[in-house]
Amino acid sequence: MQKLKSFKELLDTPKKIVVTTHYKPDADALGSSLGLASYLTKKGHEVHVISPSDYPEFLNWMDGEKDVIDFEAGGNEEKSEKLVGEADLIFCLDFNCLYRINELGDMVGESNAVKVLIDHHLEPERFADYEFWSTQAAATAELVYKLIVDLGDRDQIDASIAECLYAGIMTDTGQFKHPNTTKNVHLVTADLIELGADIAKVGRYIYDNNSLDRLKFTGYALNNKLKVIKDLRTAYFWISSEDLKKYNSKTGDTEGLVNYALSLKGVVFSAVIIERPDTIRISLRSKGDFSVNDFAKEHFNGGGHPNAAGGISDLSLQETVDKFERIIKTYKKQLNKNFHKTN
Ligand code: 5GP
Ligand code: MN
Repeated sequence: MQKLKSFKELLDTPKKIVVTTHYKPDADALGSSLGLASYLTKKGHEVHVISPSDYPEFLNWMDGEKDVIDFEAGGNEEKSEKLVGEADLIFCLDFNCLYRINELGDMVGESNAVKVLIDHHLEPERFADYEFWSTQAAATAELVYKLIVDLGDRDQIDASIAECLYAGIMTDTGQFKHPNTTKNVHLVTADLIELGADIAKVGRYIYDNNSLDRLKFTGYALNNKLKVIKDLRTAYFWISSEDLKKYNSKTGDTEGLVNYALSLKGVVFSAVIIERPDTIRISLRSKGDFSVNDFAKEHFNGGGHPNAAGGISDLSLQETVDKFERIIKTYKKQLNKNFHKTN
């Protein structure tokens, strides 16, 4: 409580603020950042949102999105360095280790600004002066809502802010069906509706906004790039850079693919292994108590949550697939243990 009091005092006078979030932000990362940024702007602060990279087009309806600085876009590295260097406060949202924001991480690490972490991932790196961190929260957006309310500013949450926060909660709960969908999630969501969020509109923008290329890519991947290993209750996609090129794949187009693999009857563990320009990225999901966070941490230099995590590999795509197949064999017992409970 003492911390909240001193944090509130910090915000009593206008500050220069940078809000940043993880590489390739999803709806929770960008929604919580923009919702918080709008609130802080309303309170009289000078706020800039810096994203370490671009993000899916289906998020560009969010209020304030036009002003987001994409660190990787031409000329923005210097601009970001200046803003981070001059900031009084830096908010880090929806990630908890500085390597998740690439080169921006070094700048943030070296800055003298007061650092504020708002996050719900496991095992945070301890770099922040203030931590609003809880793994009980389904989404960072849920924590941003709580923080604004705890600061006594619920009435500052307008419809646009409510929609940004709702987007984060809706997507990080898998449309309110993952086990992280608590009573509090529904209470917060109900209040966001009360505050003016048009939830049907947000749902349409995020889920009914596919390009034909994206739909065809999904069909191609389902037909040609999905491998099911029945005795390990595992299914995974492997996607090469040529596959992505062939379907003119844009940022965000592969989001959700991993859920198709997990939706298979009998499958408790799914993965998407994708060849990106700089690295191989791995997306992991599970049903029940098989911890993909542990799996990602142990084998693919990553992390996340018990049922949704990600990581990277510096091997080739084929070598990564071989490594993945080799490793999962050693988890046969765990993968089969809870089968009847989860299916
Ligand atoms: P996704 O598969 O949607 O990219 O990520 C699933 C979850 O794992 C998200 O909460 C995301 O923030 C986290 N995650 C993804 N990749 C990494 C990674 O490389 N390192 C860590 N620590 N977390 C990750
Ligand atoms: Mn999140």
